[in-house]
Amino acid sequence: MKKLHLLTTIELNKLLKNRTITCQQLLHSYLENINKNEPKIDAFLEIYKENALTKAAQIDKLYDKGDPLPFLAGMPIVIKNNICLKNKKITCASKILENFVSPYDATVINKLEKNHLIPLGATNLDEFAMGSSGENSAFKITKNPWDFDYVPGGSCSGSAAAVAAHFAPLSLGSDTGGSIRQPAALCGIVGLKPTYGRVSRFGLVAFASSLDQIGPFAKTAQEAAHLLNVIAGHDAQDATSAPVPVPDYAQNLGQDIKGLKIGVPKELFETGIHPEVKEALVKALELLKKQGTSWEIISLNTIKYSVAIYSILAFAEAASNLARFDGIRYGFSAKDAENLDELYKKSRGQGFGDEVTTRIILGTFSLSSGYIDDYYLKAKKAILLMKKEFHEALKKYDFIVTPTSPTPAFKIGEKINDPIAMYLSDLATESANYTGLPAVSIPCGFTKNNLPIGMQIIGNHFEEGKILNLADRFQQLTDYHTKMPEFLEEN
Ligand code: GLN
Repeated sequence: MKKLHLLTTIELNKLLKNRTITCQQLLHSYLENINKNEPKIDAFLEIYKENALTKAAQIDKLYDKGDPLPFLAGMPIVIKNNICLKNKKITCASKILENFVSPYDATVINKLEKNHLIPLGATNLDEFAMGSSGENSAFKITKNPWDFDYVPGGSCSGSAAAVAAHFAPLSLGSDTGGSIRQPAALCGIVGLKPTYGRVSRFGLVAFASSLDQIGPFAKTAQEAAHLLNVIAGHDAQDATSAPVPVPDYAQNLGQDIKGLKIGVPKELFETGIHPEVKEALVKALELLKKQGTSWEIISLNTIKYSVAIYSILAFAEAASNLARFDGIRYGFSAKDAENLDELYKKSRGQGFGDEVTTRIILGTFSLSSGYIDDYYLKAKKAILLMKKEFHEALKKYDFIVTPTSPTPAFKIGEKINDPIAMYLSDLATESANYTGLPAVSIPCGFTKNNLPIGMQIIGNHFEEGKILNLADRFQQLTDYHTKMPEFLEEN
């Protein structure tokens, strides 16, 4: 039999249920793989080994009793370190929170607990989720499991790399401008940003509150659907959470896709797209066409403003949200300050990294009196136009499909001194955050250098089920998601 950590949760569920394997054996298989390969990848900021072992033993007892358990019971899951777990460090990969311990659990963590999943570790990220390569972590650089010289994408660098490296079958991330989908694409896995309001953000450290959303990573759409079942739903503790009923996303897969219409915006197809990415996308669209769907090029003109809007809106909200890190209430406090003003300045100056500092300064500028109309309010108006445009398009088409990222993974260090090139990584993903629409990235090919390529499927509000159904259908027709990074094959 294959090593347990190489199986899917669908296969594992059967083996756990019929007691061919125990949760503890499963966990040991993952821990062995982590022991051997984590030094090459650096996906984790912390591994909760002891807690996980205790939990696995408890869940084994439940399985032994024969009570019906939730589908994902006993599955390890790793968590981006901007989602709070009680009594665990919540650093956001920032020096300012280096030793800060969370006093409470995020709602999604409570939901994982209720469903008997096993939190196995905290994953690395770009500091405060700001970045597209993982290189902005204050602690370490996560490597792409497909080639260690390449970035895994960001900001969920560790969550995406951990699943691609089979350190855990599932992970959680957050997505403000593409942080789940872009690393999913670069690491060859599935990453879903749900509709704004679908998943509670209580206990997620805020970056840009009008855009942030928590979502799942998995290797298949089917497994992502199971994890979405666990984390979705209204939460009175998050005022932006939506009181919309949660369907059974996993149960509803397998619907016919015949007759469904796909619009492909030319703004993300005709220029600025790496030729191998475009080629893979066309091949994928043609494959779906053979199943009875149709696709055509459309225009979504406002997409070209995406990056500009982001650098105003996301930075402004970040400047406001990060004001709470003042050197007094949370985490790091500068030692050598002589008065209160100096304490603020020194704590923030020494605690935040360069990218975060840049964004706070730019965000504060675009919110300042005299400039707010020209920048912040204009960005808000541009979003209204974008919402209208996407709304019209989704009346005509069932899905909007784009490359997830204009390029495959790039080399570590390649874009770090070129912020524009770095920000362009999110060109295709940001619009789903502005419009609040759900969007999934799934593997749709490989470059000649064996780097994964992702395709993004955007659907209408609360139509996660529909986009996962198309994604699942595509995965039944292809085997990109079953391929493994080379180092795992030696295992
Ligand atoms: N890469 C984008 C950024 O740099 C998006 C990050 C995110 O979605 N959290 O901010």
